[in-house]
Amino acid sequence: TEPAPTLDNDIVAKLGETLAATTRRRLGRSLSIREVDAGSCNGCELEIHALSNAYYDLERFGLRFVASPRHADVLMVTGPVTKNMREALLRTYDATPDPKWVVGVGDCAFNGGVFSGSYACVGAVSEVIPVDMHIRGCPPDPVALLQGLIALVDAQA
Ligand code: SF4
Repeated sequence: TEPAPTLDNDIVAKLGETLAATTRRRLGRSLSIREVDAGSCNGCELEIHALSNAYYDLERFGLRFVASPRHADVLMVTGPVTKNMREALLRTYDATPDPKWVVGVGDCAFNGGVFSGSYACVGAVSEVIPVDMHIRGCPPDPVALLQGLIALVDAQA
């Protein structure tokens, strides 16, 4: 059997520390994230959930995933947006207090991806709510997600 690929914990720790430091510098506080599944295949969700596992352990850097959009600064939305989830996505966006940022996670969130043209889909997340940043990939891995979050926070005045 092939040996399991080794992940570089130094890279993860460095990105996590950079994200925490950037958040403190730009926002003056920690960052709360709400993950929103707008109708994806769940591949992107698994990568987002990995940020909370024992390996990535994002919370050790003072960043946390929250159970309600009312407690969130950032919505990480996976797509495409299905017709069934359009209203839920709009309500989630409205329930998130300002200032808030929306990150579209994955190619499906960006442009519908492999589900483009499906009768069940509205399409990209940006067709339903404003999107501040896209993190492309099918799916983007946790390192790409961390890099995207750092870029998002660092762009704030
Ligand atoms: Fe699934 Fe890929 Fe679309 Fe993510 S980008 S929801 S992994 S098909």
